[in-house]
Amino acid sequence: MRELVDRLEQKRLLSENEFLKLLENKETEYLFSRACAVRERYYGKAVYLRGLIEFTNYCKNNCYYCGIRRDNKNAVRYRLERAQILDVCRSGYEIGFRTFVLQGGEDPYFTDDKICEILADIKSEISDCAITLSIGEKKYQSYQKFRTSGADRYLLRYETASPAHYAKLHPQEMSFDRRISCLYKLNQAGLQVGTGFMVGSPFQDLTSIVNDLKKLNDFKPQMVGIGPFIPHKDTPFASFASGSPELTLVLIAVIRLMFPAALLPSTTALGTLGSEYRVKGLLAGANVLMPNLTPPCNRENYKIYDNKAYEPLEELAKQVESAGYYIDINNIGDSKIV
Ligand code: SAM
Repeated sequence: MRELVDRLEQKRLLSENEFLKLLENKETEYLFSRACAVRERYYGKAVYLRGLIEFTNYCKNNCYYCGIRRDNKNAVRYRLERAQILDVCRSGYEIGFRTFVLQGGEDPYFTDDKICEILADIKSEISDCAITLSIGEKKYQSYQKFRTSGADRYLLRYETASPAHYAKLHPQEMSFDRRISCLYKLNQAGLQVGTGFMVGSPFQDLTSIVNDLKKLNDFKPQMVGIGPFIPHKDTPFASFASGSPELTLVLIAVIRLMFPAALLPSTTALGTLGSEYRVKGLLAGANVLMPNLTPPCNRENYKIYDNKAYEPLEELAKQVESAGYYIDINNIGDSKIV
């Protein structure tokens, strides 16, 4: 197994069979130790923070796995207005956040112009911050406008690298090709791109995960976000099991070895399967945490899956320290990819 890990570290890629062998292996100690060594070469012991602001849970899409899908009539819908979003950024800035992630469903209420106004508001008041958008599939011109209005980064997972698998996770009106083409458009528009996939989504097997991993190479992303699928009771996938947190940890380590300088979050979904997994994510090579800054009364309605975890910053800081790392407060947290 050491041989495989060493080969991955040197070549940053393996054959399909080698990847499968690595993913099936239960001996993870060496893999995690190499992933941490590589992470520390680029980022030392620092953990970067992103303040997550879930500003709308309205969504025109109907992804079968997602709790804020259009057809979930039990979802209590909300939107944060421009002034509220700015308020959240302001208070986040005061406690040391220098990056804000504005995430939401695909909500037609937030036209390009509205998004641009929000971006401009934040940047004119807080010039030394980075703004990440995560609001789904848009036209190239929209991504360009977002960029010129102050967006620095964009998160858009492809969810799965297989068009056939994509079609099992989404209704017909949604298109794998469109999702992928958005990732290229984001790049062209000059945004730093983060992408990734769900681990353990229904109908996924290890071979499709190997393809998910290889697909990352098409984009050479600055950020890679992966997290376990977790069922939501009001979706068509309510009765499917959650993805494995252990496999997610292995994949974080593999991705760290494939993309040594990438920004890799230890995600909320991973922490939802057990608070210890968030730290384990860091010890498998992740270097980013995304504490939730959404106002508490709204946060509880941004339920993309059941039992979504919330960990206060002080608690996270303690966990990070217990892992031998520290939160690099006041750091905008750019990737070291050149
Ligand atoms: N609308 C934007 C988009 O499509 O990228 C951002 C919001 S969307 C809710 C953010 C991510 O949540 C998706 O990319 C998906 O991977 C993840 N997600 C949704 N439902 C999930 C579930 N049941 N379990 C785990 N992750 C989920």
